[in-house]
Amino acid sequence: MRVLKFGGTSVGKPERMHQVAELIDDGVQKIVVLSAVSGTTNSLVGINEAYKKEGIGAAHLLINQLEASYYPFIKALYATQTALVKGQKLIEEKFDFLRSFDPITFDSDDEKMILAQGELISTNLFVLYALEIGMDAVLIPALEFMRTQEGEPDLDYITKAVQQTLKQAGSANLYVTQGYICKNERGAVDNLRRGGSDYTATLLGAAASADEIQIWTDIDGVHNNDPRIVENTFPIHELSFAEAAELAYFGAKILHPSCVLPAQKSGVPVKLLNTMAPKAKGTIISRNTSNSVGIAKAIAAKDNITAIRIISTRMLNAYGFLKRVFEVFENYKTPIDMITTSEVAVSLTIDDNTNLDAILNELISFGSVEVDTDQTIICIVGQFNQQQAGAAVQVLDPIRHLPLRMISGGGSKSNISILLDTTNKKEALVALHEALFKEAIAARLAQ
Ligand code: ADP
Ligand code: ASP
Ligand code: MG
Repeated sequence: MRVLKFGGTSVGKPERMHQVAELIDDGVQKIVVLSAVSGTTNSLVGINEAYKKEGIGAAHLLINQLEASYYPFIKALYATQTALVKGQKLIEEKFDFLRSFDPITFDSDDEKMILAQGELISTNLFVLYALEIGMDAVLIPALEFMRTQEGEPDLDYITKAVQQTLKQAGSANLYVTQGYICKNERGAVDNLRRGGSDYTATLLGAAASADEIQIWTDIDGVHNNDPRIVENTFPIHELSFAEAAELAYFGAKILHPSCVLPAQKSGVPVKLLNTMAPKAKGTIISRNTSNSVGIAKAIAAKDNITAIRIISTRMLNAYGFLKRVFEVFENYKTPIDMITTSEVAVSLTIDDNTNLDAILNELISFGSVEVDTDQTIICIVGQFNQQQAGAAVQVLDPIRHLPLRMISGGGSKSNISILLDTTNKKEALVALHEALFKEAIAARLAQ
C-alpha cells in the first residue's frame, strides 16, 4: 500500500484535479489524502471570524462568495451531465450547511465543523470525477478513523480504525480520504492544525505500514532555504528523518511541524514531489541519507516566537529549579521550543501566547522576568558533530553584524538555532544562505 497526499494547489483547479487523477492511475493500490481546494480553508477561517464578530449577514456574504467560486469549478471538472448534477447537489448541500450556523450560540465546535468542510468538499468532488472517468475509487471518511486524544493523534486507535474502515469499504484500487480533519476524544469534529494534511498522510502511512508516503505539492521538494524569502534556493534530494523533523518543526512551511514523526517511528520513507513537474527528483526523507557537502544542509525560520528570560539567584547551585520552571509551562500546556541557560538565568521560547499572562504571573515568584515578543527562530540543519571543528563559527560569522537574542547548539547533532528580532529575519536568512551555500549556488548558476 502507498499513501499519497496532494496539497491545496495540487487540487486547486479543475485541470489540476484531472492531472492528479492521471498521476495516480497506475494500477497500484493506494490511499490518496487530499487537502481542501487552495484558498478554501483561509475563506472558512474568515467565515468563522464573521460569525463570531460581525454577525450572520457578513458570514453569509463570505459563504455566498466562496460558493460562487465552486460552480465554474465543477462545470470544468466534469464532462457528463450526471456527474455535474451530483457535484452541484453536493455544493448546494455543503453551503446550505455553512449558512445554518447561529452567531449567538456559535462555539469552537462549530468553528471546527466549518473548517472541516473544505476537505469534505474537495474529496467528494474528486471521487465523483474519478468514478466518472471509470477509476476503481472509493471515499473513506477520515472522521471514521482519524482520532486525537488531548490534541495529539492517537496512532493506536487510528491503526485499528483504518484497517476496519478499509475492510468495510471493500477491495478497491484507490481509496480517497480527507487530510487535516479528525474527531477528538469527545467525538467532536476537530483538526490537526493548519497544514495538517501532511500529518494525516504520515499517520496513515504508519498505520497502514505503507512502503512509501508521497507528499505532492507545488514545488520540487524541500529547498535549502525558504524560497518565498531568499533567492537561488534549491531542492535537497536526501534528508534524514531527524533533519527533516527539525526543518518542519522550525518553520519550513512545506511540511507540517509534526508530520515527520509517525514516518520516523515506523521507518516509512517520505518523498516530496511536485505535482506541476512530476518527473523532478524531489526530496526523499529516510533512514539512509548520504552526507551533504559542507556543514549546512538547509535553513528554516519560525516566526511569532516569544522569548522569556527568568533571572534568579536561587538558580545558583540549586537542583530542581528548572523542573519547577518547566512545570509552569506544563500546567498551561505550552510547549517550549528553545532553551539556553547561564548560572543565574534561563531563557526559553514559546510559540503559543494563549496563556502568556498567566505563565508570567507564576514565573515572577522565581525572580525577575523579561519578555521579548516578535522574535524569529532560525534553524540551521546540517552535520554538527562535536568533531566538526569550526561549525559554529561558520554559522555565526555571516550574521556577526546582527544582534542575537539566543544561540543554541549541541542539543542535537543536526541543528544549530538562533533567536533574533523578526525585523532582522530576512537579512539573516539571505546572509546565511549566501555564505553557507556559496559554492553550491555558484556551481548551479554556472550550469
Ligand atoms: P500544500 O498546499 O501542497 O501543502 P504548502 O503551501 O503548504 O503546500 O507548502 C509548499 C510551499 O512551501 C512552497 O510553495 C513554498 O513556497 C513553501 N516553502 C517554505 N519553505 C520551504 C522550503 N524550505 N522548501 C520548499 N518549500 C518551502
Ligand atoms: N486545508 C488545510 C489548510 O489549509 C490543511 C492542509 O492544507 O494541509 O491548512
Ligand atoms: Mg501544506
